[in-house]
Amino acid sequence: MPADTIYLDHNATTPPDPRVIEAVDRALAVAWGNPSSAHAPGLAARETLQRARDEAARLVGVDSSEIVFTSGGTEAIALAVSSAWQRRGAGRRRVVLSAIEHPAVIEAARGLAPQGAEVVVCPVDRRGLVDPGELGARVGETTVLVAVMLANNEVGAIQPAAEAAAIAARAGALFLCDAVQAVGKIPVAARAIGADYLPIAAHKLNGPKGVGCLCVRHGAPCVPMIAGGGQEGGLRSGTENVPGIAGFGEACRLARERAGDEGRIAARRNALEERLVREAGAQVLAADAARLPNTIGCVLDGVDAQALVVRLSGRGVFVSAGSACHAGKTRGSHVLAAMGVAEAARGCFVRVSLGAGTSDEDAERAAAIIIEEAARGRARKGR
Ligand code: PLP
Repeated sequence: MPADTIYLDHNATTPPDPRVIEAVDRALAVAWGNPSSAHAPGLAARETLQRARDEAARLVGVDSSEIVFTSGGTEAIALAVSSAWQRRGAGRRRVVLSAIEHPAVIEAARGLAPQGAEVVVCPVDRRGLVDPGELGARVGETTVLVAVMLANNEVGAIQPAAEAAAIAARAGALFLCDAVQAVGKIPVAARAIGADYLPIAAHKLNGPKGVGCLCVRHGAPCVPMIAGGGQEGGLRSGTENVPGIAGFGEACRLARERAGDEGRIAARRNALEERLVREAGAQVLAADAARLPNTIGCVLDGVDAQALVVRLSGRGVFVSAGSACHAGKTRGSHVLAAMGVAEAARGCFVRVSLGAGTSDEDAERAAAIIIEEAARGRARKGR
């Protein structure tokens, strides 16, 4: 990226760390064998996979044997949802989701409707938080699966996932905790949460795209979606993406090394946020909730967010109008709607998400440019 640009869209994706690039390159050059082969090149590839598996497992506190490598977060989520559904107990057909789940979860659940699934959505409050009471009222003896994400990608609200898991467990249902946006930004302990399924995507933590994993708790059902050569213990066939997985492993190792940095990132985020509130009239969403330390999701009243993103891009500051997946949709996201944000305000929603490499100077310079362009946007609209 050019030196004078400032990337503040780390919830969409993160730039790969140079050590990740090195790990991918090394795997391509040295561990190019087929991990299923019995000879030395195969063994080198197998060892590379195992090292990455150990790193991913260590990062979220599970056993290496509980990791299934996938093509990323979406596939990991699809595997969890379809596994739970296919192994559902007699009389169970309800899937309960929070209203702010990622489309990967929502669409996977909706896709089960033709097979008789009853998809029930649990509302969130104005802070973007699931109320365990509301969730408990929807989960019962007919529930197959409960899905509550760990941290929301648009506003950063951190959900009461452990309480949600306990509600699911009491009803004999499985629990999917989409941790794609949380891993690498806050400490994540899959066992303490009580997750049966916990997906991770490498590209959210300075790893490569197209690779991730599903952590499947020992004993939780896992039914392969892709049949073939029986790779990944028969759970995900296809010759493994060894270079991508090597990069993922390195990204996990670096994320563990960075643990404890959350306070530093939050301080930088808070300084930027205070300026946006004071000088651009930003209304920060989920401000009263526990939030990802890097995320500012805010409404800039009277500013066309899509146009602002384009103008900021022209000045070398990269932010987003909602999540990457919603970019281009004019009515704004289901997350903001669920939080009670009025439709007109949803078009003024801007997400600024910092990364491990964001400096104080970057944050300060970006704040000044965003404030300037927001004022310009308002003036233009007022004309
Ligand atoms: N879940 C959440 C919360 C996300 O933010 C994303 C990506 O934006 C996904 C799932 C999907 O992950 P991937 O893009 O790796 O398929």
